[in-house]
Formats: sequence, C-alpha cells, structure tokens
Amino acid sequence: MIETALESLRMSPRYRDRIAHIEVLPAREPRFGELGTPLSAGIAHYLNSRHIRLYSHQCQAVEALRAGRNVILCTPTASGKTLGFDLPVFETLESDRQATALFVYPTKALSNDQLKVFKDMERATGIRADAAVYDGDTPVSRRGRIREMSRIIVTNPHELHHVLPWHSKWERFFRNLRYVVFDEAHRYRGVFGSNVAFVIRRLRRIARFYGASPRFVLSTATLANPQEFGEKLVGLPFEVISEDGSPRGGKTFLFYNPFFDGVGALSPHQETRDLFLYFVKRGLQTLCFTASRRMAELIALWSKEATAAGSVLAEQIAAYRAGYLPRERREIEDALKRGLLTGVTSTNALEVGIDIGSLDCVIISGYPGTVLATWQQAGRSGRRNRDALAVLVAFQNPLDQYLMKHPESFFGKPHEQAIIDLANPYILSGQLLCAVAEMPFDVPGEEIFPAVRAGEMLGELAAEGLVKETPHGWVYTGRGRPVEAVGLDHIARDAYRITCDGVLLETMDTGQAYREAHLGAVLLHQGESHVVRRFDAENHLVEVERKDVDYYTQAIKNVDLEILGTRATRRLGQMAVHLGELEVTELTLGYKVIQNDQVVAREELDLPPLHFRTTGLWFTIPGELRRALYDRGRNFGGALHALEHAMIAILPFEVMCDRWDIGGLSTPGHPGTGEPTIFLYDGYEGGIGLTEKAQGLMERVTRLTLELIRDCPCELGCPACILSPKCGNDNRPMDKQGALLLLEGMLEKMRQ
Ligand SMILES: [Zn+2]
Ligand SMILES: [Zn+2]
Repeated sequence: MIETALESLRMSPRYRDRIAHIEVLPAREPRFGELGTPLSAGIAHYLNSRHIRLYSHQCQAVEALRAGRNVILCTPTASGKTLGFDLPVFETLESDRQATALFVYPTKALSNDQLKVFKDMERATGIRADAAVYDGDTPVSRRGRIREMSRIIVTNPHELHHVLPWHSKWERFFRNLRYVVFDEAHRYRGVFGSNVAFVIRRLRRIARFYGASPRFVLSTATLANPQEFGEKLVGLPFEVISEDGSPRGGKTFLFYNPFFDGVGALSPHQETRDLFLYFVKRGLQTLCFTASRRMAELIALWSKEATAAGSVLAEQIAAYRAGYLPRERREIEDALKRGLLTGVTSTNALEVGIDIGSLDCVIISGYPGTVLATWQQAGRSGRRNRDALAVLVAFQNPLDQYLMKHPESFFGKPHEQAIIDLANPYILSGQLLCAVAEMPFDVPGEEIFPAVRAGEMLGELAAEGLVKETPHGWVYTGRGRPVEAVGLDHIARDAYRITCDGVLLETMDTGQAYREAHLGAVLLHQGESHVVRRFDAENHLVEVERKDVDYYTQAIKNVDLEILGTRATRRLGQMAVHLGELEVTELTLGYKVIQNDQVVAREELDLPPLHFRTTGLWFTIPGELRRALYDRGRNFGGALHALEHAMIAILPFEVMCDRWDIGGLSTPGHPGTGEPTIFLYDGYEGGIGLTEKAQGLMERVTRLTLELIRDCPCELGCPACILSPKCGNDNRPMDKQGALLLLEGMLEKMRQ
C-alpha cells in the first residue's frame, strides 16, 4: 500500500515537483548479544516469559555497568535502551538487599510508563523494589513510606531539586544509592540543562556524604557530542554505547518543499492538508504533527470538510491535543491502536511516552527545530518491523529550506551539539547557595563545583549576608530556602512569572519575556496559543489569556553593545574569531502581527531598554574584502547585515538552540574594534555556552551560511535566507550577492 501510494505521488503533476528528496532506509535484521556471566534465574525468567532476547547494545550496557563504569546509551527511539540499564539495576537489587536506585524522567507520562515496567519486573523476577513515583502529585500520606521503603524511586529534575535539602530524611535511600539514571537526557541542555548539571552535582555531594558513589546512566537520542555532553552534565567519565543492535522495518523518508520554486502557490498548511488526505484516503493510518494546536484542529477540520460530509472517512479523522481531558485523549489513543481512526492531527503533545501503536505514515508539518525531534516524531510510524513512511513538509524559513536542499546533512553523521554551561555566574551562584544550604561547604574539598569561581562567589554571597564562613566550612545564613528562589528553567532570581487565570504556566528570563511575552504577544504553550493581556515590568509578572487566534507576533528590537573583555581569540588562516564578555543593550521597539505569512499590523511598545552582560563572538572584515565589494558596486553594509542574519538563522543547526536564543549586530565600524564587525551573542544573562561552542565551529558555520544563501532561488533575499523577522531595522539595508562575495572571501582567508 505504501509503495503504490508513494509511486503515484511521485508521478502526480500536483506533487511531483515539490518532492525535494526521497531517502529509503532499508529494513535491518536484529543483532543479538551474549552476556559474559548469565543473568540470575529470576531475571532470566522475566526475559524468557516475554520472549525477549537481548540485542548487542543492551548486552554492552549491562557489561559496562557490571564493570562499574558510567554509561551513555545513545541509540534511536524504540531501540530498547531502558532494558540495558533496568537489568543491571535489578541484578544489583537482588545481590544487595539494601541497594537503591534513582530514575529521573522529564515528564509524568514517561515516569508512569517506566513505573509499570518496574512493577512488571518485580512480579516476574520476585525481586522486591517497592518501585514508586515521587513527585508533586505524590500524596503527603505516601511520601514517608516511599522514602523509607522504596528501593527504586522515579522522579523528575524539579522534584529532585526540592528534595535535596531534606536529605537527612532520605538517609537510607542515599546511603544505599547504587544507580542514578537520567532518561531522555538530551532534554537537559541550555538553561535548564545547565541548572540540572548542578542539581546532579548537589546529588553527588550528598551521596558522598552518606558514603555512596552511584554509577550514572544517561540515555539520549543521537547527538554529535554524547561524551562531552555526559561528562559536562554529570562531571564524571562516561562510556558511550551507540551501536544499535535492534531490528527495524523499512522506512521511506520524503522531504516535501511547497516553496520549491521560491514562491509557494499554496501555504504549507494547505499542502499538509492535501498530503494528509492523500494518505488517509488510501487507507494509510496517518499521524500529522503540527506546530500549534490551532493548526492541528484546522487541518483535521479542513480534511473532514473535503471528504463527503458524514462519510465514513470524515468519522475516521480526529485532532489530538494537550488541552483535552485525560479521558478524551485516552479514547483517541485507543481508537488509533484499534484502527478505528485513520488520520489524527496532533501537536507535539503526543511526542514521547504515549502509546498509540505503530502507524503507516507520519507527516511532520514544519521542521520541529532539531534533527533529533524530527527523528523522534518520524519514529511514530512503523515500529514493529513494518514498512512505513515519514514526510517532512518544509516551511519558508532558513532551517527548513536548508534541509530541503541538503538532505545529506539530515541523514548523514549527527551534527547537533547539546550545550550546557557550567560557567554562567548567575546559575552557578544560585546553585551554589542551594548546595551550601544543604550542608556546610568547604571550598578546597568540593572538587565537584568549579573551585575558583565558587571561592569568589562565596565572598560575594557573604557580602549580601547570605552565607558566612565557619570552622566547619561555609554555611547558609539567609532567610527562606534557596531552592524556592532558584528555578531550573531560568537564570536570574527575578524571573518573569507567566500566569493564566491565576495558574502559573511557566517562568522566563527577562530577555525572553521581552522577546516573547510583551503586551499583545501570542505565546505558545504546549501547542496552545495565549495572548498577553498584562505585562508588569515592575513585579515581573505577565498575565495571559487562552485564546485561539489565526495570527502570531514577532518582536522587533534594536541592539547596541560594548566589548568588556576578550577571553579567547581563535586564528583561522588570516581571519580571527574572538570570544569575550559583552554588555548588550536591547531596545524592543514593537512587534509585527503576522497572518497567513503576511505582516498585517505593526504595534509600538513602550518598554525600558534591557541591559545585560553575556558572552559573544565577533570577527572583523579584512579591508581587502571590503574594497573588493565596493569595486563591484555592492552595498557593504547590506552585505554585512545579510551575513549576520543568515549566520544566526543557521547556527541552531549545529548548536542546538532556538534562533531567538542568539542575538546579533553588524556594523561597518564598531568603536570596540575600529573596523567593520559582526557580533553574535547568547541572548541570556551571563551566557549559556552557545557562541562559545560556535567559535570552535566557525569554518563550518561560515560554510553553512554560504550554502544557505547561495542555494536560495530568490534574487534579492527572502525569509528563507537573509530576511529576519526580528530585525529592528526592517531588514534594511540588504545585499544578498554582497553577502555571498563576503562569505566566499572569508572562507578563502580562513584557508590561507
Ligand atoms: Zn532567499
Ligand atoms: Zn537586522
């Protein structure tokens, strides 16, 4: 069925030109492994009764953990990673009657899923673990018993952060702690990941106090830097296991570009609807991922309308979203599994941990922002040795369009780097305060915190009256518990609180609040759109209202910056790329209202300028290149400006982040350098490691920027290459050809 559907799609004049690439991923036989020492009778019984034979990577993980090493499992979704660490954990629980293990999951759905697995393993193996979830939903009446009895505790990073100060109540658990598992660890990147890295160090410190030194296990989706990432996150050496031995069915991956001609006759949403209907009408069970809940509902509605009203097919189409009641969601999940539904549209609410069985086809409407998330969504089709189809529908923005023209970068070697930053002074000081409050802090003995910075920082905290030095080390002298003031999702202590009907939706750093939650902004939260009704800069409070709107907003800002100091200079041939501290002033001027890809209104905003210190990189343009541009009659300022926009747009492809996380400035003359200069900086107070990483990847980033601009079919520049929605200068001046000359010249200079 899939083959015929695909064949007629390729032949059809309606679709043919829009197919940018077809990748056939052949089916693969399983590779099994053998263990050096067999598993105990109970554990073997669990596996045999479920007809499970271990794959090579699972055996590798078991052996590495048995040998006492820390392990990162870095294999695709649904490759059976969990068994690789569940087995050695149960083996240890069996041989050591006191041993305990901590499992940390990022979402409730995943925690509950895993709890079921543990219960099942306990029954089948006869090993008592009293596995339990301990999180915000755990009733107070059950908490004491879990702390005292459970040998496997499943929690999330936020709960762990709040539990650590109460470690004396957890003495039994921490004293016997043998394993700590962080599943879906790739989620711990950026601000959140950098905070979690310190929560892990606090946990290690407490475990050590009680005489335990647990093994760490991380499981992640495919990354370019698993080893570096794991070692930064935990602070210990890791063994990486990435050779996947699990079987898979054949899959065809199709890249579909509505903007193949640079124009796009239909919107990507209309294209998505047509593809969705195309597959559903052919009886292929299809799941369509959209960027927002509104699009999920519209595509389902349009599709129903396009089929004969009241027809059987119309009844087989539904939308799925986070806002539904659990019962409604379960009904849809169930109907999908039983084949009663043929087509479902969904936001990423359905991403991981929710079982809907295996589907024939997945449509991803708009690149989800990372290669990793794209594979996870595509993994929803064809799990059980069945052939399947995945389609990525590109939007008209630089990353989507780059992928359409460079599919090899998607199917080739992983290139996405997960970044955490242990040097952000604001994150460090908040987490240090938490650590000091948990137990007295003795600087030379605390090798798990960066010692030099910690020493300096304690001095500063002492001046604020928050800590003091005693013969037993530094102790906390502030009021209230620091964990209450330190959130894991943001950097500064005075973060903005975003509330809806009095309920806290999320917290944001000031910069992010100015960009995404200003008055009138449309804010997406779990695919649901909200409109900002009140922005209270004094109390750092934002009130939003749940509302379905058919437009979105983009803030426009102006940037000024000053170089405070240079930390490192990297020479690349005749070019030099500097990294250092910057003092940035961002002025949010207003915002654009965008409907159907058209700017329909511009609103002004009256916000005070935002000043912050951060890390950034910069490079100057050699005089020779500037003269070459003038000689050819190009607009030099426009070329710099276009280069800056394109470089910011392509950076998330290498350094996992959002385009909005990086700021930039280009100028034909900057007082700090006296020359034409391009700056890129981390949009977070204190920096978050993004441009630091980018400095090391500069040749590659320059090449990708060149390809992005060169391969775009437009003549003068468009939203798919050099135009930026957040430009404070209204994308003027712009010189696409000039930027190309500049980039070619830079690459040549880097080689000299
Ligand atoms: Zn273009
Ligand atoms: Zn601009």
